[in-house]
Amino acid sequence: MKKLEEVLKDWEAVIGLEIHAELTTLNTKMFCGCKLEFGAAPNTHTCPVCLGMPGALPVPNKAAIESIVLAGLATNCDIEKHSMFYRKNYMYPDMAKNFQTTQGPVAFCMRGHLDLEVDGPAAKERGDLAGLEVGETRGNVTKTEDGYVAHVGITRIHMEEDAGKMVHVGGGEGRIAGATHSLVDYNRAGTPLIELVTEPELRTPEEARLFMQKLRQIYLAIGISDCSMEEGSMRCDGNISLRRRGATEFGTKTELKNMNSFKNLHDGLAYEICRQAEVLENGGYIRQETRHWDPSGKRTICMRVKETADDYRLFPEPDLAPYDLTDEWIDGVRAKLPELPDAKRDRFVATWNLPKADAADLAGDKESAAFFEECAAGLDDAQAKKVANLLLNDVSAYLKEKGLELGESQLAPSALAELAKLLADDVISSKQGKEVLTAMFEEGADPAAYVESHGMKQVSDTGALEAIVDAVIAENPGQVAKYKGGNTKVIGFFVGQCMKQTKGQGNPKLLNELLAKKLDEA
Ligand code: ADP
Ligand code: ZN
Ligand code: MG
Repeated sequence: MKKLEEVLKDWEAVIGLEIHAELTTLNTKMFCGCKLEFGAAPNTHTCPVCLGMPGALPVPNKAAIESIVLAGLATNCDIEKHSMFYRKNYMYPDMAKNFQTTQGPVAFCMRGHLDLEVDGPAAKERGDLAGLEVGETRGNVTKTEDGYVAHVGITRIHMEEDAGKMVHVGGGEGRIAGATHSLVDYNRAGTPLIELVTEPELRTPEEARLFMQKLRQIYLAIGISDCSMEEGSMRCDGNISLRRRGATEFGTKTELKNMNSFKNLHDGLAYEICRQAEVLENGGYIRQETRHWDPSGKRTICMRVKETADDYRLFPEPDLAPYDLTDEWIDGVRAKLPELPDAKRDRFVATWNLPKADAADLAGDKESAAFFEECAAGLDDAQAKKVANLLLNDVSAYLKEKGLELGESQLAPSALAELAKLLADDVISSKQGKEVLTAMFEEGADPAAYVESHGMKQVSDTGALEAIVDAVIAENPGQVAKYKGGNTKVIGFFVGQCMKQTKGQGNPKLLNELLAKKLDEA
């Protein structure tokens, strides 16, 4: 098979995503009062409604409608004031009612969009940027300094309910194939679920990954789901087809099911693009089918050939009245929208002049963003930048190694701010900073006191350093000659010698400057 890069030269990939999110932060199910709880003993959260008993009547969960409207507002959708529920009919053991309650042609949220900023190597996958000037737009992309922005349409976000969970026993990896029997747990049945469908406007696996990541950050920011891809509360199906560059007609698509991590989504789509190209280039054709990405085998496998929508006999749900949302109610929901990650990123850049990528990384995570703000209040730009670096690198590496969340550690924002000041003001070196940070995590150390008691202060006294620099230069005429001969790399040797003299506490920046000056004069 050809590599993705190679394939994308001749073919344009057309990708549309269908992303499900369970509204896990709600207390109860979509149409009954059963508790929402992941991991409870099987079938302990059930009632006649979610078990589909004859005559049981659904009552919609108002908080769930509020959550989906919040999601729509956060993704630039129009909120439809008049919509209703439908029955999507099918029989399967995980669906005791024999139909799923979902929405029809009109969903609560329609016609939204998200803008994706793509830069770095991934921007090269987009094969249609040739000839575009920075700031210029063609189709849904605008060229930027280091990549492009893709404007991706959202068709709709509709409300539905989840099915129960099947457990297949005796087969390999919990699959139904080879199983001796199957069990079903209805705790998940009736969990409020929102499904977002994008327009077929994504063009690379990286764009798909970024879209999913951005949507997850938004959902977490508005607090409607825990968005756990491992536990399945956020799941993504990727639809993908190819067409020759320059063609306007869409090709036949395949659908990749349930890609449960950003990496799987990216890699599954990348594989499927290459597979389809190979089939098409060999004169074959693509069957419209549902495929499964197997990350360990690094391939996609056919699950089933597509059923048609007609099979579901979608019809209006007779037990639920249509909705008439009022402007006042929608405005009330709008008032609850928190600051979204992009706005937060821009504010971090404007307030502390952070590099955009760092600001985006911080703003994308609610907890880190709040922690950063608490640290950075009252700090200058250089100090705030140190806080950002510490959080994104040393702190997150430490937490990851220990398997901790920020809130579970004993790191206090005021202490991290203090450490950032010591670093920004060159009182200690970045190497010493790491040692101080470890002590802060492990002993709750106070940074200033720790630096004092461990005699860590960097020597930034120019007079003292100058004397050492002079002595080291005088002692090493051979190395000085090399430097004079054009081998400026030996400056590293001199820095090392000076560091030895200062027991590692010389300010490296100052030493470098002094050495360069003195060596040039020598
Ligand atoms: P289906 O009827 O098969 O469910 P839909 O029209 O509902 O298809 O679209 C489902 C998803 O597939 C949407 O995200 C849409 O953008 C995407 N899609 C539709 N046609 C194509 C295509 N030819 N290639 C890639 N994606 C597509
Ligand atoms: Zn119930
Ligand atoms: Mg569809």
